Amino acid sequence: MRFLKSVWVAGILTCAAMLSMPSHKLEAQELTDEQIEEGQRFVVNNAIFILFHEAGHMLVSEFNLPVLGREEDAVDALSSVLLLGAEDEELNTTIQDAADGWFLLDEANEDGPQDDDFMGTHGLDRQRAFAIVCMMTGADAEFFKVFADSLEFPEERREECVFEYQKARESWMSLLAANMKEGAKTKFKVSYQPAGNEDLQGFADLLKSAGALETIATAFGEGYNLKGGIKITGKTCGVENAFWDPEAREITYCYEMAAFHAELIANWFANQGSEEAAGDDGASDETEATTVKLKKKKE
Ligand SMILES: [Zn+2]
Repeated sequence: MRFLKSVWVAGILTCAAMLSMPSHKLEAQELTDEQIEEGQRFVVNNAIFILFHEAGHMLVSEFNLPVLGREEDAVDALSSVLLLGAEDEELNTTIQDAADGWFLLDEANEDGPQDDDFMGTHGLDRQRAFAIVCMMTGADAEFFKVFADSLEFPEERREECVFEYQKARESWMSLLAANMKEGAKTKFKVSYQPAGNEDLQGFADLLKSAGALETIATAFGEGYNLKGGIKITGKTCGVENAFWDPEAREITYCYEMAAFHAELIANWFANQGSEEAAGDDGASDETEATTVKLKKKKE
């Protein structure tokens, strides 16, 4: 099983040339160019969201911000507010892919990562995903309408979410205000360490070429009164993990996490493919059985 999955993942990682695999291996590795692109984007965007989450821990720790309730949930709200407030459409897509990530994770729950910071200390992934959807639709109901519709996110909730988002935004912004400084610049040390194995190196290369770690250095490199020298490191850890280490002042993103997300999306493509194949000549059956709507982004 592991092997089949890694074939899939290879499909996402590499160029179309990889795809002319002998058909007996799996009908499935015929990922289209579009799927490969979508899969890569999914992996990168989930990495960026996770990095924003860890950067949220960084801000809480570096600025000694008071946190009410679970820090994990607080940091999710903080990173959502920062991503959504970035007024950058690409980052809006980032958060949408991240929310998709949680719905996929919910479906694949059994073999999901259990004991890392990013997922382990959270309750239900589904619950967490809906909390983020609430931030999204609260921030921009229009932009995320199609997405929220695809999840059948209730109208009354959407109205409440406008206020919930505003409240989250205002309280985080007032906490951050004391730690913002016009014109302040912070230098981060970004590094992509060699993965040490071929499979994960593909992910290291993907993240590097997308500038995933640099996104954090850019987003937090200006305007925050942070001491320089914070490290942002991509590496092989031995677990699917991502974390902020306050002693080392380092955000670490483990390449295994990217491999995990590639598996999630690849399996989703596989399930989609088999559903289509099961339909009558693939003709009219709407594939509404899946709860994840990966392509519901507003044009
Ligand atoms: Zn966390």
